[in-house]
Amino acid sequence: MNSFSLSDNPLNIGGFLKDFANDRAGARVSFEGVVRNHHLGQGVDFLEYEAFPEMVEAEGGRILTEARERFALTDAAAVHRAGRLEIGDVAVWVGALAEHRQEAFLACQWIMDQIKARLPVWKKEHFSNGTVEWVGAGLQEPGLTPRAEAYYQRQCVLPQLGPAGQEKLGRARVLVAGAGGLGCPALLYLAAAGAGQLSVIDGDTVNLSNLHRQILFTPADLGKGKASVAAERLRAQNPWIAVQAHDGFLDTDWLAQHLNGHDLVLDCTDHFPTRYLLHDACWRAGIPLVQAAIHQFEGQVQSFHPDSPGGCLRCLWPEPPSADCAGTCAEAGVLGLTAGQVGLQQAMEALRLLLDWPGHLLEHTLLIDLMSGATRRIRRQVRPGCVCRTGAFPAPAPMPAPAPAWLSPGDSLPSGARYVDIREAYERENAPADILALPHFPRERWEAIPGEIRQRPLILCCAAGVRTRHCLELLGHPPGIWAWTGSIHDRPAAKESLPQ
Ligand SMILES: [Zn+2]
Repeated sequence: MNSFSLSDNPLNIGGFLKDFANDRAGARVSFEGVVRNHHLGQGVDFLEYEAFPEMVEAEGGRILTEARERFALTDAAAVHRAGRLEIGDVAVWVGALAEHRQEAFLACQWIMDQIKARLPVWKKEHFSNGTVEWVGAGLQEPGLTPRAEAYYQRQCVLPQLGPAGQEKLGRARVLVAGAGGLGCPALLYLAAAGAGQLSVIDGDTVNLSNLHRQILFTPADLGKGKASVAAERLRAQNPWIAVQAHDGFLDTDWLAQHLNGHDLVLDCTDHFPTRYLLHDACWRAGIPLVQAAIHQFEGQVQSFHPDSPGGCLRCLWPEPPSADCAGTCAEAGVLGLTAGQVGLQQAMEALRLLLDWPGHLLEHTLLIDLMSGATRRIRRQVRPGCVCRTGAFPAPAPMPAPAPAWLSPGDSLPSGARYVDIREAYERENAPADILALPHFPRERWEAIPGEIRQRPLILCCAAGVRTRHCLELLGHPPGIWAWTGSIHDRPAAKESLPQ
């Protein structure tokens, strides 16, 4: 049997159990979700499930893959019904095989929760009194359940929002690019406010030096994909929204497949080529974009949309600045509260745009100085001749392929590779001897790396993995040079077979 499937016919559970076995597994847990004869106090006669089969099967497959990794399962499988179901029919079947019972139990429950939260399946209840009602089985429910109403009660009292605004927010599809210092607070408050369908994309993994500002993560998440961890945390924060995670780096292909259909995009990345790529794609698709950036104690927020006289990002800066232009958080330093406050400004701007509130930043850039507490709004306008008016956007610069040049935990190292420390000298003070022994190239000498060290393979290494990617891009991805996407302290042992 396929590991995840959608079935129009009654499920043959006995048949599933016969097929679903493995001699290595000491535990098999299976779960059946059954159609009951009542819903929220009303009698139910029967129900119908409607689904987008391709999306359901793709997302269902992803859930099972994640479950196998997360719980070290021997195997996992699930079937979701579609079409008409009678009372007592099995609507969902989930099975988990593991060496021990604990993993199998936990996995089964986790898979079921993910199916409810993530699959685009809608349920139509046929009540005994003759009425019929659509109920979101996974995605945002049309209308609010009593518990969701209670969750949003304090903000629904606001005349600017009200139940109508809350429902509008519930239908909003918002893409947040980057689950870092800006993305974490923005996502947390958008989720809590009830932005109904959040997508989050981030290719990074959680690192210890992220935690002071990336407040969706805890030390228990180290090494895990940021997007997945963030999504899980957000679903726990607000069970009445749907969150989709994409653990990967944003590129042209991904945008071509996933951007359309979103009502709003938040750029919470810290990488210039990505910012321009996202900006140009949003502009051409006519999707409003909220951008933010931070530096030490300062931040700025601005929005772009083709209908606004405020112009585009390229009106301000026609081309992306060089990678050297902006310091990363690791070099320049950043206060967690700066990221927090600016991320929240981004979330607030998202609400302004989604709910047509005044004060939006489509024609202004908001500057925030956390140290003095001062804020300023600077008016923007279209730059004559800008590509946003001529339509002659430059072709997207080819984004460097994330693989195989970027190594993550779990990847096998190129054989014979050795590490190069690209951090600043002050970061190496008090470093253990094994790190001090590594070849050292601080930022001002990055360009010398491929020439000075002729013998490869080499793996660039920094405090958190951000600079290694910047450095690799600056070097143009030379063959035989990789970037380690984690901390220098977490690097896997390399075989030191080459002379220094
Ligand atoms: Zn422009």
